[in-house]
Amino acid sequence: MTSLKREACLIGGEWVSGERWIEVDDPATGAVIGRVPRLGAAETRRAIDAAEQAMGPWSRLTGKERSRILRRYHDLIMARQEELAALLTQEQGKPLAEARGEIAYAASFIEWFAEEAKRVYGDVIPSHAPDKRIVVLKQPIGVVAAITPWNFPAAMITRKIGPALAAGCGVVVKPASQTPFTALALGALAGEAGLPAGLLNVVTGSAAEIGDTLTASDKVRKLSFTGSTEIGAKLYEQSAPTIKKLSLELGGNAPFIVFDDADLDAAVAGAIQSKFRNAGQTCVCANRIYAQAGIHDAFVERLAAATAALKVGAGTEAGTEIGPLIDDKALAKVREHIGDATAKGARVLTGGMPHARGGRFFTPTLLTGATAEMLVAREETFGPLAPVFRFRDEDDAVAQANATPFGLAAYFYARDIGRIWRVAERIEAGIVGVNTGLISTELAPFGGVKASGLGREGSRYGIDDYLEIKYLCLGL
Ligand code: ADP
Repeated sequence: MTSLKREACLIGGEWVSGERWIEVDDPATGAVIGRVPRLGAAETRRAIDAAEQAMGPWSRLTGKERSRILRRYHDLIMARQEELAALLTQEQGKPLAEARGEIAYAASFIEWFAEEAKRVYGDVIPSHAPDKRIVVLKQPIGVVAAITPWNFPAAMITRKIGPALAAGCGVVVKPASQTPFTALALGALAGEAGLPAGLLNVVTGSAAEIGDTLTASDKVRKLSFTGSTEIGAKLYEQSAPTIKKLSLELGGNAPFIVFDDADLDAAVAGAIQSKFRNAGQTCVCANRIYAQAGIHDAFVERLAAATAALKVGAGTEAGTEIGPLIDDKALAKVREHIGDATAKGARVLTGGMPHARGGRFFTPTLLTGATAEMLVAREETFGPLAPVFRFRDEDDAVAQANATPFGLAAYFYARDIGRIWRVAERIEAGIVGVNTGLISTELAPFGGVKASGLGREGSRYGIDDYLEIKYLCLGL
C-alpha cells in the first residue's frame, strides 16, 4: 500500500508539484510535518478545465454506475481509516478518537450520496393543455468549486464532493492551507476507487488567488464554501457577475439553553460534548450557555467540575479530550474573549489561562456572569471557553438566544413538551438540538439561517444544490 501523504496537488489526474511551497505544521508541537505546493490562477484554470472535461462522460453514466464507484470510494476511505485519522490528527490536532470519528463521518457522506445517485428523480406534471405534456428533468449543475476549512479537514470536503459527484459534476477542491494533507489523501483514494482522472481536483495554494479564479470562471456553476462569514460574503460578491449558485456554511454563535425543568446531568454532558468537541473549534459548538435562574448555580457547579476534569494533551496521546488549538491566532482570540469578559464583570470558575504544556494548548475554561455586552456574546470564540449567562423565563431565553446575526445551531434542555415545541419553533437557527449536544449526521440537513449561510448539506436535500431543474414542454 502506498502512503496517502502527498506533497503535490491533484490536477487532471496528475500529481503536480510547485515552485513555491506552503509549510504545514503539527499544532501540538509546532514542528513542520511537510509542505504542499503554493499554486495559483494558472493551475486553478487547468483544474477547472479538467473537471469540465471529465464530467461529460461521468454525467452520462447511469446513476447506478456512479453509485457503484462512489461506494468503492467509501469502502476505500474506511479501509484506510486509521492512516487517514493519523494524518488528520497530525495536521489538525484533534484527539485521535475524534479523528477516527471524523473519517467515518466523512465516508458516510460518500456512502449516502452514492445511494442518492440512483434517486435523482424528475417529475411528470399534469398538463395545462390537451396537446402538451410537462416533464421535469434534473441535471448536474456543472463544474463545482469547493472551498473548505481546517476544523474538519475530511468531512467538510466529502459533504460537498459526495453530492457533487453523485449528481454527475466535476469538482475543484481548495482545502485550507493548515490541513491540506487529508484533502490530498482523499484525492489519491478517489483515483484508486476508479473515479475518472480529472473529475476530482485538489489545488492548494494562495486562497485569494485560487478563490478569485474559481469565482471568476464562468465554467464553475456552483461554489460550496464552508468557513468564516467574512470570506463567505466576499465569495458571494465575487460570484455575482457569473450568477453562480452558492452554498455557504458560515459562522455560528450557538446558544445552549438549560431550563429549570431540564435533566441537569444530561444537560452538563450535552454542554461538554457540544462546547468542547474539537477543542471548541466547530461551527456548531455551543458558544453561549444560558442557565435559568432556578438551576443556574447547581448547573454551573456541575459544569465547572466536568470542565476541569477534561484531559488536555496532544491528539496522539491516549485519553486526550482537548487537543491544541489550530494556531497562535486562535489562542490569542480565546485570551482576548476571557480578558474582555472578566474586565466587564465575568468570573472565571475554572481554567482561564493557557495550559501548563505551553504551545497552543489552552485550559478548558468556564465563566459565569456573562452578559450581552461581552465579546463572548457576539463572536464565536472557536476555543475551549464556555461562558454562562443567566435568564429568567422562556421569553427572556428566546430573546437572548436570537439576539445575534447568526443562526446555525441552537441547543436547549427541557422536559415540558409544550415548552419544547414553543422554543424549538421560536429559535432562529437551521439546526436545533433538543436534549442533545450532538446533532451531526449525514442523514439530516445541515445548514444555517441569517448570516450563517445558504443551502443545506447532507440528507436527501443535500443533492439539490448540485442539480438544475429543466422543464420540457412536449407538444404532441
Ligand atoms: P477559518 O476561520 O475557518 O480559517 P476562513 O474563511 O478564513 O475561515 O477560511 C476558510 C477557507 O476559505 C480556507 O480554505 C481558506 O483558505 C479560504 N479562504 C480564505 N480567504 C479566501 C479568499 N479571499 N478567497 C477564497 N478563499 C479564501
